Amino acid sequence: MLELCIRCPVCGKYHYYSLGDDDVHNIGDIIGPDYEYYSQSYNEKCRSCKNEFLIVELVHRGQLVNVLINPTEEEDEKIEDRIYPLLDAYPDLPKYHYYERLNMLLGEDSRVIPSQYFLVDLKVGDKIPLFTTEWEVKEKYKVIDDKKRLISKIYKVSEIRKFSGEKIERLLILRDNLLPTLKIVEWGVTSFLDEEERFKKYRIPPNCKLFIDLT
Ligand SMILES: [Zn+2]
Repeated sequence: MLELCIRCPVCGKYHYYSLGDDDVHNIGDIIGPDYEYYSQSYNEKCRSCKNEFLIVELVHRGQLVNVLINPTEEEDEKIEDRIYPLLDAYPDLPKYHYYERLNMLLGEDSRVIPSQYFLVDLKVGDKIPLFTTEWEVKEKYKVIDDKKRLISKIYKVSEIRKFSGEKIERLLILRDNLLPTLKIVEWGVTSFLDEEERFKKYRIPPNCKLFIDLT
């Protein structure tokens, strides 16, 4: 089954949904033998506006590779031909599995629909759910490459922990065709000492520059 935070395509409200009834699987999980391909569809209804949408889970070579919402005709045809839209990268498993990332509030949130995050243009003050936590956008940035292409959207986000009252800040990194990812707030990282640093910190890619986004 899937536990997903889904943004309603009609009203834009986020809600959590449980789909199916076996063990919970996250995007990137290996859930079967490597010859296994299938797609599974679920109908759901927005809890706010009651509009219906279709969720499609895609398993490619035994791995849960993507989840789509209201696939287009073109996407449907590809799914029928078993040409599934793979993401450019998946969480480093089993080193940082979902609950470990959730505890640290770092790394990829693999219980979302990846395509829904990069497309939304967040404003300062907006709320966005990640790892079952509601984050508030504090600052926004863009990473642009030397051909003037938008590579990533970066938001500084914060939340107040419920019991301790502690304020937590993170960088939210959104890139096309990747899972939304949280990193610690540290600018000017030029290299990673080890895999742990690579997991926790953000480095502006070569040939790219960071710009403040005042829109
Ligand atoms: Zn809705």
